[in-house]
Amino acid sequence: MATSKIYYGCKLSVFFVSLRINFVNSFSLMKILAVGWNYLDHNKELNQGILPKQPVIFMKPETSLLRDNKPFFLPDFSSQIDYETEIVLRISKMGKNVSEKFADRYYDAIGLGIDFTARDLQNEFKANGTPWELCKAFDNSAPISQFLLKEDFNLSNLNFSLNINGETVQKGNTKDMIFSPEKIISFVSRFFTLKTGDLIFTGTPVGVGPVKIGDHLEGFIEDQKLLDFSIC
Ligand code: MG
Repeated sequence: MATSKIYYGCKLSVFFVSLRINFVNSFSLMKILAVGWNYLDHNKELNQGILPKQPVIFMKPETSLLRDNKPFFLPDFSSQIDYETEIVLRISKMGKNVSEKFADRYYDAIGLGIDFTARDLQNEFKANGTPWELCKAFDNSAPISQFLLKEDFNLSNLNFSLNINGETVQKGNTKDMIFSPEKIISFVSRFFTLKTGDLIFTGTPVGVGPVKIGDHLEGFIEDQKLLDFSIC
């Protein structure tokens, strides 16, 4: 009896040790890339009215994702959180140095996302020439919708919009992108290996603005409501 207790005790401790080793060695396998200044009218509204020569890229970590229309809690480190409504691409296979010609083979679905931005911090960082992570990549700064197969949409002419408290505050069309999804994928894959499950936020059109506690946000691709959540 005592021997079997020791035997099972050892088995259990080996199990927990291996669980711990697996946990220590586990890490996130996805990344979120985002494009800034990809719609000229938006660039103008933020006094950035020049055409960028190449995509302006920043990243958000997995902890920035907010799914299933869960509420967004305003963080205490900013006095101005702005919404930026964006079409999001879901990468469907690994790619490195992808040519623009074949880039459409590397994503299979699109969704709608909000690139929440701590605008007051971003203005400071822009003035000082310092990185954007703190104003762009904070927890829950990337609410995303469910994803829809891209075959069902014409991504070169796709309307999307955001309502706040029933009023349309932002409307865009992908035809106004400065850099197309294919150009973006080709460009970023020179620097970052794309992996299945990575997401790319493709930039926001004109009409960004602040959110406040109690606001109700509804996001649409064409007439389909994909985002529906509140600010707390
Ligand atoms: Mg953005």
